[in-house]
Amino acid sequence: MATLFVSDVHLDAGHPQITGQFLEFLERDAPPADALYILGDLFEVWIGDDDPQPDKRRIVMALRALTDRGVACYVMHGNRDFLLGARFCNESGCRLLEDPLVLHLYGKRVLVMHGDALCTDDHSYQRLRSMVRDPGWQKAFLALSTDQRRLLADEARAGSKAHLQQASMTSADIMDVNERTVADAMRGANVQLLLHGHTHRPNVHRFDLDGAPAQRIVLGDWHERGSVLHWDENGFELRSLPRDHH
Ligand code: MN
Repeated sequence: MATLFVSDVHLDAGHPQITGQFLEFLERDAPPADALYILGDLFEVWIGDDDPQPDKRRIVMALRALTDRGVACYVMHGNRDFLLGARFCNESGCRLLEDPLVLHLYGKRVLVMHGDALCTDDHSYQRLRSMVRDPGWQKAFLALSTDQRRLLADEARAGSKAHLQQASMTSADIMDVNERTVADAMRGANVQLLLHGHTHRPNVHRFDLDGAPAQRIVLGDWHERGSVLHWDENGFELRSLPRDHH
């Protein structure tokens, strides 16, 4: 039996081919697994569990069908869908995960994160992260109407795009993880394995951590193809899921 990990699906009504592939993944690839972990940014934007948008409801119902079949489904907040809450969990059958989290998998200890907290060179993003993760800010935001929240989220996305463009002109590296932050997080959790998403740079990095071999597994996004980490008693494999037939 296997454990599956995905992240950064960035489901969005404007990209029906991503929604189609992810729904197919939930119906066909996920049911044989023991568990599915979604490590953040499942949704491009999540303005609150009360959002009636049909595309979002479809995904919630598909997750419900999966959890009803007995597949444990866990969701971590990303920087886009940090407002996923109790009602989403009740409706989908998913359980929310803390970030960071240490998992015990097939005899290994693995530190699991969305990954945005590792990008400590991006100071303006880290300031924004502290603001929107504040319970007071979230309460005030959720008190607005869904229309108002959608408008503000659209503005934030436009700002984020401008930030990305500006950053790529100066240095792509500030958008990646900081290696010292990675090492500190792994030491703090006493692990030789780290798994995260967020950077959209799928890879398995092998390096030396305090004299012992260590690995950092990075999940890819679903923009042009799917990305899934398949883990069972024989080890892990980072797989790319083609979308040719869509
Ligand atoms: Mn992210």
